[in-house]
Amino acid sequence: MDGSALPLDLKAGFTGATVDRADPVRHDPEALAAAIADPRARLLALAGLDPVVAADGGFTWVGMHEAPDGAQLILLGMEDGAPRFAAFAGRPPQGPARSIIFRMIDTAPRADIALYAAARALIDWHARHGFCANCGATTALFRAGWGRRCDTCDTEHFPRVDPVVIMLAEHRGRVLIGRQPGFPPGRYSALAGFVEPGEAFEEAVARDLWEEAGVTATRVRYIASQPWPFPSSLMIACIAEVADDALTIDHHELEDARWVTRDEVTAGMAEAEGAVFLAPPAYAIAHTLFEAWLAETG
Ligand SMILES: [Zn+2]
Repeated sequence: MDGSALPLDLKAGFTGATVDRADPVRHDPEALAAAIADPRARLLALAGLDPVVAADGGFTWVGMHEAPDGAQLILLGMEDGAPRFAAFAGRPPQGPARSIIFRMIDTAPRADIALYAAARALIDWHARHGFCANCGATTALFRAGWGRRCDTCDTEHFPRVDPVVIMLAEHRGRVLIGRQPGFPPGRYSALAGFVEPGEAFEEAVARDLWEEAGVTATRVRYIASQPWPFPSSLMIACIAEVADDALTIDHHELEDARWVTRDEVTAGMAEAEGAVFLAPPAYAIAHTLFEAWLAETG
Protein backbone atom coordinates (compact mmCIF):
# COMPACT_ATOMS: atom_id res chain seq x y z
CA MET A 1 0.00 0.00 0.00
CA ASP A 2 1.60 3.26 -1.10
CA GLY A 3 -1.08 5.54 0.31
CA SER A 4 -2.61 6.39 -3.07
CA ALA A 5 -5.94 5.36 -4.57
CA LEU A 6 -7.43 4.16 -1.29
CA PRO A 7 -10.65 2.22 -1.91
CA LEU A 8 -12.84 4.67 -0.02
CA ASP A 9 -16.48 5.21 -0.86
CA LEU A 10 -16.33 9.00 -1.03
CA LYS A 11 -18.55 10.83 -3.45
CA ALA A 12 -18.39 14.55 -2.69
CA GLY A 13 -16.37 17.02 -4.74
CA PHE A 14 -12.71 17.67 -3.80
CA THR A 15 -12.32 14.06 -2.60
CA GLY A 16 -10.78 11.24 -4.62
CA ALA A 17 -7.13 12.22 -4.95
CA THR A 18 -4.92 9.48 -6.37
CA VAL A 19 -1.49 10.96 -5.58
CA ASP A 20 0.96 9.59 -3.09
CA ARG A 21 1.52 12.70 -0.94
CA ALA A 22 5.16 11.59 -0.57
CA ASP A 23 5.74 12.88 2.95
CA PRO A 24 9.36 11.58 3.07
CA VAL A 25 10.27 13.81 0.10
CA ARG A 26 9.09 16.88 2.03
CA HIS A 27 11.76 16.12 4.64
CA ASP A 28 14.57 15.32 2.18
CA PRO A 29 16.06 18.32 0.29
CA GLU A 30 17.94 16.09 -2.17
CA ALA A 31 14.83 14.05 -3.01
CA LEU A 32 12.85 17.28 -3.40
CA ALA A 33 15.47 18.75 -5.78
CA ALA A 34 15.37 15.52 -7.78
CA ALA A 35 11.56 15.71 -7.96
CA ILE A 36 11.71 19.32 -9.22
CA ALA A 37 14.31 18.31 -11.86
CA ASP A 38 12.37 15.18 -12.90
CA PRO A 39 11.38 15.55 -16.59
CA ARG A 40 7.95 14.09 -15.72
CA ALA A 41 7.28 16.84 -13.14
CA ARG A 42 4.29 19.06 -13.85
CA LEU A 43 3.05 22.33 -12.37
CA LEU A 44 -0.65 23.15 -11.85
CA ALA A 45 -1.41 26.34 -13.79
CA LEU A 46 -3.35 28.85 -11.70
CA ALA A 47 -4.66 32.38 -12.17
CA GLY A 48 -4.62 33.69 -8.62
CA LEU A 49 -6.37 30.91 -6.75
CA ASP A 50 -8.41 29.75 -9.73
CA PRO A 51 -7.62 26.99 -12.22
CA VAL A 52 -6.62 27.76 -15.79
CA VAL A 53 -9.18 25.80 -17.80
CA ALA A 54 -7.74 23.64 -20.59
CA ALA A 55 -9.39 23.14 -24.00
CA ASP A 56 -10.89 19.84 -22.83
CA GLY A 57 -12.50 21.49 -19.80
CA GLY A 58 -9.96 20.04 -17.37
CA PHE A 59 -7.01 21.59 -15.57
CA THR A 60 -3.86 22.92 -17.24
CA TRP A 61 -0.56 21.27 -16.23
CA VAL A 62 2.65 22.91 -17.49
CA GLY A 63 6.39 22.26 -17.32
CA MET A 64 8.32 23.33 -14.24
CA HIS A 65 10.10 26.07 -16.22
CA GLU A 66 6.78 27.91 -16.42
CA ALA A 67 6.75 28.64 -12.68
CA PRO A 68 6.44 32.42 -12.17
CA ASP A 69 9.70 34.28 -11.40
CA GLY A 70 10.51 34.05 -7.71
CA ALA A 71 7.73 31.56 -7.01
CA GLN A 72 8.20 28.88 -4.37
CA LEU A 73 7.18 25.32 -5.12
CA ILE A 74 4.69 23.20 -3.20
CA LEU A 75 4.96 19.43 -3.71
CA LEU A 76 1.38 18.16 -4.09
CA GLY A 77 2.50 14.54 -4.48
CA MET A 78 3.50 11.83 -6.95
CA GLU A 79 1.04 10.65 -9.61
CA ASP A 80 2.27 7.25 -10.78
CA GLY A 81 5.75 8.40 -9.78
CA ALA A 82 5.51 11.74 -11.63
CA PRO A 83 5.86 14.76 -9.32
CA ARG A 84 2.98 17.25 -9.20
CA PHE A 85 3.60 20.80 -7.96
CA ALA A 86 1.85 24.11 -7.41
CA ALA A 87 3.62 27.48 -7.19
CA PHE A 88 3.22 30.16 -4.52
CA ALA A 89 4.18 33.53 -5.98
CA GLY A 90 4.60 35.26 -2.63
CA ARG A 91 1.72 37.70 -2.84
CA PRO A 92 -1.94 37.54 -1.89
CA PRO A 93 -3.73 35.83 -4.80
CA GLN A 94 -6.56 37.78 -6.40
CA GLY A 95 -9.62 36.23 -7.96
CA PRO A 96 -13.38 36.31 -8.37
CA ALA A 97 -15.56 35.69 -5.33
CA ARG A 98 -17.16 32.66 -6.99
CA SER A 99 -14.41 30.34 -8.16
CA ILE A 100 -14.44 29.05 -11.74
CA ILE A 101 -13.91 25.60 -10.20
CA PHE A 102 -17.67 25.29 -9.77
CA ARG A 103 -18.09 25.41 -13.55
CA MET A 104 -15.55 22.55 -13.94
CA ILE A 105 -16.41 20.40 -10.97
CA ASP A 106 -18.85 18.03 -12.71
CA THR A 107 -16.63 17.41 -15.74
CA ALA A 108 -12.92 17.83 -14.84
CA PRO A 109 -10.95 14.75 -13.67
CA ARG A 110 -11.91 14.02 -10.08
CA ALA A 111 -8.34 13.38 -8.90
CA ASP A 112 -7.24 16.75 -10.32
CA ILE A 113 -10.09 18.53 -8.52
CA ALA A 114 -8.87 16.99 -5.26
CA LEU A 115 -5.27 18.07 -5.97
CA TYR A 116 -6.52 21.56 -6.79
CA ALA A 117 -8.26 21.68 -3.39
CA ALA A 118 -4.93 21.02 -1.67
CA ALA A 119 -3.11 23.57 -3.83
CA ARG A 120 -5.72 26.26 -3.33
CA ALA A 121 -5.87 25.84 0.46
CA LEU A 122 -2.07 25.81 0.79
CA ILE A 123 -1.43 28.84 -1.44
CA ASP A 124 -4.08 30.84 0.36
CA TRP A 125 -2.58 29.82 3.72
CA HIS A 126 0.95 30.83 2.68
CA ALA A 127 -0.32 34.20 1.46
CA ARG A 128 -1.87 34.93 4.87
CA HIS A 129 0.96 33.61 7.06
CA GLY A 130 3.97 35.66 6.10
CA PHE A 131 4.46 36.73 9.70
CA CYS A 132 4.99 34.64 12.83
CA ALA A 133 2.00 34.44 15.17
CA ASN A 134 4.44 33.91 18.03
CA CYS A 135 6.82 36.88 17.61
CA GLY A 136 5.70 38.87 14.57
CA ALA A 137 8.87 38.35 12.50
CA THR A 138 8.82 37.09 8.90
CA THR A 139 8.32 33.40 8.16
CA ALA A 140 9.66 31.30 5.30
CA LEU A 141 8.16 28.33 3.43
CA PHE A 142 9.73 24.97 4.33
CA ARG A 143 9.00 21.24 4.08
CA ALA A 144 8.16 21.44 0.35
CA GLY A 145 5.38 23.93 1.05
CA TRP A 146 3.69 22.05 3.91
CA GLY A 147 4.78 24.49 6.60
CA ARG A 148 6.40 27.85 7.41
CA ARG A 149 9.19 28.52 9.87
CA CYS A 150 9.86 31.81 11.67
CA ASP A 151 13.11 33.49 10.60
CA THR A 152 13.68 34.80 14.14
CA CYS A 153 12.25 32.45 16.81
CA ASP A 154 12.23 29.22 14.72
CA THR A 155 8.60 28.47 15.57
CA GLU A 156 7.15 26.11 12.98
CA HIS A 157 3.66 26.82 11.60
CA PHE A 158 1.54 24.27 9.73
CA PRO A 159 -1.43 24.69 7.36
CA ARG A 160 -4.78 24.98 9.10
CA VAL A 161 -7.80 22.78 8.56
CA ASP A 162 -11.00 24.24 10.04
CA PRO A 163 -13.62 21.59 10.96
CA VAL A 164 -17.25 22.34 10.13
CA VAL A 165 -20.12 20.01 11.02
CA ILE A 166 -22.99 19.66 8.57
CA MET A 167 -25.96 17.63 9.64
CA LEU A 168 -29.46 16.40 9.03
CA ALA A 169 -31.63 16.20 12.11
CA GLU A 170 -33.93 13.18 11.88
CA HIS A 171 -37.28 12.68 13.64
CA ARG A 172 -39.81 9.92 12.91
CA GLY A 173 -39.12 9.54 9.20
CA ARG A 174 -38.52 13.20 8.42
CA VAL A 175 -35.35 15.30 8.23
CA LEU A 176 -34.74 18.96 8.95
CA ILE A 177 -33.58 21.23 6.12
CA GLY A 178 -32.80 24.92 6.19
CA ARG A 179 -31.99 27.79 3.88
CA GLN A 180 -29.74 30.80 4.26
CA PRO A 181 -30.70 34.13 2.70
CA GLY A 182 -28.00 33.88 0.01
CA PHE A 183 -29.14 30.51 -1.36
CA PRO A 184 -30.57 30.25 -4.89
CA PRO A 185 -34.42 30.29 -4.98
CA GLY A 186 -35.91 27.06 -3.66
CA ARG A 187 -32.60 25.66 -2.40
CA TYR A 188 -32.52 24.08 1.05
CA SER A 189 -29.62 22.21 2.57
CA ALA A 190 -28.42 20.56 5.75
CA LEU A 191 -27.64 22.85 8.71
CA ALA A 192 -23.94 23.55 9.36
CA GLY A 193 -21.58 25.31 11.74
CA PHE A 194 -17.94 25.54 12.78
CA VAL A 195 -16.64 23.21 15.48
CA GLU A 196 -15.50 25.33 18.41
CA PRO A 197 -12.42 24.79 20.61
CA GLY A 198 -13.16 22.20 23.29
CA GLU A 199 -15.85 20.35 21.32
CA ALA A 200 -16.09 16.88 19.86
CA PHE A 201 -17.81 17.04 16.50
CA GLU A 202 -20.82 15.17 17.95
CA GLU A 203 -21.10 17.96 20.54
CA ALA A 204 -20.80 20.61 17.84
CA VAL A 205 -23.66 18.93 15.93
CA ALA A 206 -25.85 18.97 19.04
CA ARG A 207 -25.00 22.59 19.90
CA ASP A 208 -25.55 23.87 16.40
CA LEU A 209 -28.93 22.11 16.03
CA TRP A 210 -30.01 23.60 19.35
CA GLU A 211 -28.78 27.12 18.49
CA GLU A 212 -30.15 27.26 14.95
CA ALA A 213 -33.36 25.22 15.24
CA GLY A 214 -34.06 24.61 18.95
CA VAL A 215 -34.00 20.81 18.62
CA THR A 216 -32.25 18.44 21.04
CA ALA A 217 -29.98 15.76 19.58
CA THR A 218 -30.11 12.38 21.33
CA ARG A 219 -27.78 10.42 19.03
CA VAL A 220 -25.26 11.54 16.38
CA ARG A 221 -23.73 9.31 13.72
CA TYR A 222 -20.95 10.15 11.28
CA ILE A 223 -21.55 9.70 7.53
CA ALA A 224 -18.63 11.16 5.51
CA SER A 225 -16.31 14.17 5.19
CA GLN A 226 -15.13 16.55 2.49
CA PRO A 227 -12.35 19.13 2.18
CA TRP A 228 -13.80 22.53 1.26
CA PRO A 229 -10.91 24.84 0.32
CA PHE A 230 -12.67 28.20 0.81
CA PRO A 231 -10.31 28.76 2.45
CA SER A 232 -9.56 25.65 4.50
CA SER A 233 -12.64 23.91 5.87
CA LEU A 234 -13.19 20.21 6.43
CA MET A 235 -16.90 19.38 6.25
CA ILE A 236 -17.92 16.59 8.66
CA ALA A 237 -21.32 15.21 7.68
CA CYS A 238 -23.56 13.60 10.30
CA ILE A 239 -27.13 12.50 10.91
CA ALA A 240 -28.57 13.34 14.33
CA GLU A 241 -31.66 11.81 15.89
CA VAL A 242 -33.56 14.48 17.83
CA ALA A 243 -36.04 14.29 20.71
CA ASP A 244 -38.94 16.17 19.13
CA ASP A 245 -39.84 18.22 16.07
CA ALA A 246 -40.77 21.61 17.57
CA LEU A 247 -38.62 24.29 15.91
CA THR A 248 -37.27 27.56 17.28
CA ILE A 249 -35.48 29.03 14.28
CA ASP A 250 -32.57 31.46 14.73
CA HIS A 251 -33.32 33.94 11.96
CA HIS A 252 -29.83 35.44 12.20
CA GLU A 253 -28.57 32.13 10.77
CA LEU A 254 -31.48 30.77 8.77
CA GLU A 255 -34.13 32.33 6.58
CA ASP A 256 -36.26 29.22 7.01
CA ALA A 257 -36.14 25.63 8.25
CA ARG A 258 -38.67 22.84 7.78
CA TRP A 259 -39.18 19.10 8.14
CA VAL A 260 -39.40 17.06 4.94
CA THR A 261 -40.43 13.47 4.27
CA ARG A 262 -38.56 10.79 2.37
CA ASP A 263 -40.72 11.40 -0.72
CA GLU A 264 -40.05 15.13 -0.53
CA VAL A 265 -36.28 14.53 -0.30
CA THR A 266 -36.45 12.12 -3.23
CA ALA A 267 -38.26 14.76 -5.30
CA GLY A 268 -35.82 17.49 -4.21
CA MET A 269 -32.83 15.36 -5.20
CA ALA A 270 -34.40 14.58 -8.59
CA GLU A 271 -35.30 18.27 -9.14
CA ALA A 272 -38.79 16.95 -9.87
CA GLU A 273 -41.58 19.28 -10.89
CA GLY A 274 -43.53 20.32 -7.81
CA ALA A 275 -40.68 19.45 -5.42
CA VAL A 276 -41.01 21.41 -2.18
CA PHE A 277 -37.28 22.24 -2.24
CA LEU A 278 -34.21 21.91 -4.45
CA ALA A 279 -31.37 19.83 -2.98
CA PRO A 280 -27.73 20.98 -3.15
CA PRO A 281 -25.64 19.96 -6.19
CA ALA A 282 -23.88 16.59 -6.35
CA TYR A 283 -20.44 17.98 -5.44
CA ALA A 284 -21.74 19.27 -2.07
CA ILE A 285 -21.52 16.88 0.86
CA ALA A 286 -25.07 17.86 1.83
CA HIS A 287 -26.07 15.94 -1.31
CA THR A 288 -24.15 12.92 0.00
CA LEU A 289 -26.00 13.30 3.30
CA PHE A 290 -29.41 13.21 1.64
CA GLU A 291 -28.31 10.19 -0.43
CA ALA A 292 -27.09 8.40 2.70
CA TRP A 293 -30.34 9.07 4.53
CA LEU A 294 -32.45 7.86 1.58
CA ALA A 295 -30.31 4.70 1.36
CA GLU A 296 -30.68 4.04 5.09
CA THR A 297 -34.44 4.50 5.07
CA GLY A 298 -35.17 2.85 1.71
ZN1 LIG B 1 8.65 33.92 15.49
